[in-house]
Amino acid sequence: MKYDIIIVGAGPGGIFSAFELTKLNSNLKIAIFEAGNPLEKRKCPIDGVKVKNCIKCPTCAIMNGFGGAGAFSDGKYNITNQFGGSLYEYIGKNEAIDLMKYVDEINLAYGGEGTKLYSTADTKIKKMCLENGLHLLDAQVRHLGTDINYVVLENLYNHLKDKVEFFFRTPVEKVEKNGEGYTVITAGGRYDCDKCIISVGRSGSKWMETVCNDLDIPTKSNRVDIGVRVELPAEIFSSLTDELYESKIVYRTAKFEDLVRTFCMNPHGAVVNENTNGIITVNGHSYEDPEKHTENTNFALLVSKHFSEPFKDSNGYGESIARLSNMLGGGVIVQRFGDLVRGRRSNTERISEGYVTPTLAATPGDLSLVIPKRILDGIIEMIYALDKICPGTANDDTLLYGVEVKFYNMEVEIDNNLETRNKGLFVIGDGSGVTHSLSHASASGVYVARYIAESMK
Ligand SMILES: Cc1cc2nc3c(=O)[nH]c(=O)nc-3n(C[C@H](O)[C@H](O)[C@H](O)COP(=O)(O)OP(=O)(O)OC[C@H]3O[C@@H](n4cnc5c(N)ncnc54)[C@H](O)[C@@H]3O)c2cc1C
Repeated sequence: MKYDIIIVGAGPGGIFSAFELTKLNSNLKIAIFEAGNPLEKRKCPIDGVKVKNCIKCPTCAIMNGFGGAGAFSDGKYNITNQFGGSLYEYIGKNEAIDLMKYVDEINLAYGGEGTKLYSTADTKIKKMCLENGLHLLDAQVRHLGTDINYVVLENLYNHLKDKVEFFFRTPVEKVEKNGEGYTVITAGGRYDCDKCIISVGRSGSKWMETVCNDLDIPTKSNRVDIGVRVELPAEIFSSLTDELYESKIVYRTAKFEDLVRTFCMNPHGAVVNENTNGIITVNGHSYEDPEKHTENTNFALLVSKHFSEPFKDSNGYGESIARLSNMLGGGVIVQRFGDLVRGRRSNTERISEGYVTPTLAATPGDLSLVIPKRILDGIIEMIYALDKICPGTANDDTLLYGVEVKFYNMEVEIDNNLETRNKGLFVIGDGSGVTHSLSHASASGVYVARYIAESMK
């Protein structure tokens, strides 16, 4: 089988590459190989009743399949260069923002119309943060919500399905150089192409490493983010979330001068499990539909750990901490803030007597047995700092779930066209280590598609 272009991975990066390629040249023969299921077949078995915890399915419905890790995400498209990746370092700040805006237009045209665009510009919140040692980062945020995000993906799939050949449940095992082009190898066959775009996200990080080893592509890996997910009554954060929806706030701790930051804020949302390579960590999402709102808001507090030589396995470090919580709690651990600062574990009674009802069935326990002291001290400091702008954040009943780990793919060496040193082989999205978000991953897909379409004219 011979294609002009093969795309590996049908997450936002892969989808937007295909969208733009088919738009610019309808004659191109394109195939997408995806390890997971089509959208409608992606069902996580955890129902909270019969199946309470992750049963480690062969392909994770949350992380794999059409839509990628973003399919059941909160659908927050942040239009900014201040976080979400460093795409701008490769393609320039203006181009990066223009592409994120273009992605936003497509999302609106494919089902997202009517959703709200929030902005941090000209808000009093920024001043209030500064007065309390907190720094609010600038961004525009399109909140599609998990439900509308799904509709957009459905519409994008219907648009693409007759223009592109999809191979679902077909993990690519190997990519080989084949003359000027590449051969993509799966359990079922070998497929040749002139250009290959790899967009395998975080779940494909281990596989990406093997591709880089096989094709002699340099990589570097030195960062992992570790922290907790905070859950509290939505009213406590409403002064922020009503106006901004998502606020990225950074705090420099007094004790160690470490940076702690808020991440992925979900007003009226739910805390969920995340399975990365069999390790259970915590995440969160929320729905646009008010009927699906919960009474709580959740967000992560994360500390970045950067390592220097000779240590190279930053993800391994994060995994070990997550494994420890899995060992102690059988999965994610939940603890009341009041219990944490009093140095005692939470138990079922204390959690059920609290005024915050957990939205995730996690195991009550003691996060201080899992999270390194320096990181935990920073998180506690930041909770007290946030309490000054959102009184109630440091209440005893505030719930902390752990651990939340943001694994960063190792950074693949690519040039300003997002092309590896092997000409015709592109690595985009979170799998490249360059992006860490829906908007940046999608924008990288459009960028590469335009470059390839131009070069194949
Ligand atoms: C629960 C959750 C909530 C999130 N919420 C947000 C949010 O609100 N806003 C935001 O900006 N970001 C959010 N994110 C992050 C966001 O989803 C990712 O940044 C984004 O999906 C990255 O896109 P991608 O295309 O690079 O990779 P992915 O979306 O991870 O897609 C990669 C695809 O490649 C496939 N794949 C992997 N290996 C192979 C292989 N060998 N062969 C074939 N296919 C393969 C995978 O199955 C997957 O479908 C969230 C993530 C999660 C898990």
